[in-house]
Amino acid sequence: MKLKRKGFLGGFNRYRLMLTLGLAVVLPAAALIYVNFSQLRAFERDKVLEAAIHRDFQEMLAITEKKMNKKAIGMAEDVRNLFPSPDTDADEKEKKLDRILAQSPWLTHAFLYDEKGLVLRSQPKQMDDKYIREEHGRMIESYHVWFSSEGKMMLEGMHKKSKPFNFYTGPTRRTDGEAYITTAIFALPQPSKDEIAIGGFTFDSCYLQNNFFPGMLEESVTQKMSDQGGSPLVMMVYPAEMEMGHDVKPLAVSGNWGEGKPEVTRNFENVFRGLALGVKFQGTSVKALGETWVHRSFLILACLSLLIIGGLVLTRHIVSKEMALARLKSDFVSNVSHELRTPLALIRLYAETLELGRITTQEKKQQYYRIIRKESERLTALINNILDFSRIEAGRKEYEFRNTDIAELVHNTLESYRYQIEQQGFAFEENIDSNLPAVPVDREAIARALVNLVNNALKYSGEEKFLGVKLYRENGVVKLEVADHGIGIARRDQSKIFEKFYRAGDPLVHNTKGSGLGLSLVRHITQAHGGDIAVESTPGKGSKFILSLPLSSATQQVSAS
Ligand code: ADP
Repeated sequence: MKLKRKGFLGGFNRYRLMLTLGLAVVLPAAALIYVNFSQLRAFERDKVLEAAIHRDFQEMLAITEKKMNKKAIGMAEDVRNLFPSPDTDADEKEKKLDRILAQSPWLTHAFLYDEKGLVLRSQPKQMDDKYIREEHGRMIESYHVWFSSEGKMMLEGMHKKSKPFNFYTGPTRRTDGEAYITTAIFALPQPSKDEIAIGGFTFDSCYLQNNFFPGMLEESVTQKMSDQGGSPLVMMVYPAEMEMGHDVKPLAVSGNWGEGKPEVTRNFENVFRGLALGVKFQGTSVKALGETWVHRSFLILACLSLLIIGGLVLTRHIVSKEMALARLKSDFVSNVSHELRTPLALIRLYAETLELGRITTQEKKQQYYRIIRKESERLTALINNILDFSRIEAGRKEYEFRNTDIAELVHNTLESYRYQIEQQGFAFEENIDSNLPAVPVDREAIARALVNLVNNALKYSGEEKFLGVKLYRENGVVKLEVADHGIGIARRDQSKIFEKFYRAGDPLVHNTKGSGLGLSLVRHITQAHGGDIAVESTPGKGSKFILSLPLSSATQQVSAS
């Protein structure tokens, strides 16, 4: 009943511990892993990263357009300030426009329209290009008609804007191929209320293509990279009506465009209407970046999850081990109490019997005295074991090595056990080489080791009652063997029996009282002597413990670790 209760409590404790571990660690860890995993899945499914990059690109393109507009309008304002007033005469106007063209090589044409007519001047150097010459002629013809019919309306519209400029961007031809020009038209101070005065100029297509756009694009990309870093970007300006295929022909790019379509595009709305902006990563795509990111995150999550699982397994292992140790300790206490109680009860019984004076024969009395002595010796041995063990545990165990006649030590120790051995019906074989040199040992410790081994042989023998003790020399080592024909030790237990509190699972072992300390003490003692202990055993056939002591090495005082 008692045992059942203990078992139940042990199980309950274990259950409670596992529950705590589960609730406090496993559950949050699992939740964390699950939430991260589903978040990543959602990221992957909804292409969150791609969408964020696209939004960012949109914004970048809008800012770039704004900057380009600002710069173009600023340039137009500068030019307008240089314009002659409409009431100067035609010659003077031409001269002034020529001066503006000379000062601003990024212009192709400059013109002024008022009641007196249209004055249009073109960059003399560029007039070698037959297409520019033709353009010049075309503009003189069409602008006159255009401004005279729509000039007034145009000006009214312009005055409603914060900046009174109109811009027109469109394709044209040059000797070296297709080109795009942008024309700015602005209001000049009106000579009188009804008279109109319009000024304007055309940006040189080469300037736009080779300086203005690349410069602005470069600036945007550099700004973006210095703000955010990441994969290098590349931008381009291209004709808006162009189908975005692989053969898109950019007008200007910020670097090396390489292969592929822009990730995000934006049609210019104001100054450069008719053109469009595009942006992409250099050498990679948003899709590829998103995929790499998601894969990497999954990998990191997997590694972290493995670490968490590893940690949990380790914790569980350690906790189980600690619990097993705690169980062993409590078993130890109950076993030790039992072991103490048996000799004490015997001593008391025999002492009381003697005291009552009922024993009359001297022989019987002698036998009782002997039993009392033996039982007190057993008690002493057990208490010594416990004391030694606690000293070892506290790191206070010390050995005192003295050159000793080991044959005599072993013989004397066995002699004091001979009666017990023989009384238990054991065949006892003692084989001691008496020609051994003196060995530096701690007498008490070696005797205790031997007593432990002999006691075990007596405890763990069934019907086959045999005890053999052998002491001999082999290659500079003194060997002490204690053999029995008892129950033996299973192979898997053989390495563990030297651990403290360990007891094999054999039913006979469990029916025999023991503390699981003896062999751990024997091992400690032998190792302190610079020696070692080994076991050879076959279950059901018997065991042999071989204790090896070096002849010379351990001569100094060794303190137990
Ligand atoms: P205890 O004998 O108090 O249990 P020990 O440390 O002396 O502790 O022994 C540890 C275990 O090793 C024993 O419980 C037993 O299972 C096993 N053992 C030790 N000696 C023998 C032996 N001679 N024959 C069989 N098993 C043994």
